Amino acid sequence: MLGGGARLQKSLFGSIIPAFSFKAQAGKNPFIIVTDAEARLMMIDHLRGLFPKTCPKCQRIFPTLRDYFLNTTPVGEAVSIDLEADDLRPLRPLGSGAVSKCKCGASMVISSDGMPLFRLWSLLLWAKYETMRRNVTPKQLMQSLRAEIRKQVINEGD
Ligand SMILES: [Zn+2]
Repeated sequence: MLGGGARLQKSLFGSIIPAFSFKAQAGKNPFIIVTDAEARLMMIDHLRGLFPKTCPKCQRIFPTLRDYFLNTTPVGEAVSIDLEADDLRPLRPLGSGAVSKCKCGASMVISSDGMPLFRLWSLLLWAKYETMRRNVTPKQLMQSLRAEIRKQVINEGD
């Protein structure tokens, strides 16, 4: 699970974002440093756990995340309010999520709600690093991640 973590940790705490104080806090409450693949897996695992899900309007049941991706249309932008607020260790997360429309027109949300804080913090730290590595804003990163995760889940099958 933590393979490659040491390398990422070095770059995270090294020259890229030296102003951050994670290192000082690490001994007390260490982050789980995750790689790109691990971060995706954590997000997809969490999202898969939200299913089966039922449309509040037409009662259609989406048995799996893949089925949901295949049978809904993304609406608006995926957002992470915590990432945009630059709060990487929120005790009361403001939330991260995305809205899609069911074929009946009802809006449905999948979000980070319910994710253990420690996992969420690790993902937020990873996401912050990704915005710097990719040189994008939090909004742009979330849009890319949404597309990447949809593609990965649809390609992998149930
Ligand atoms: Zn519906």
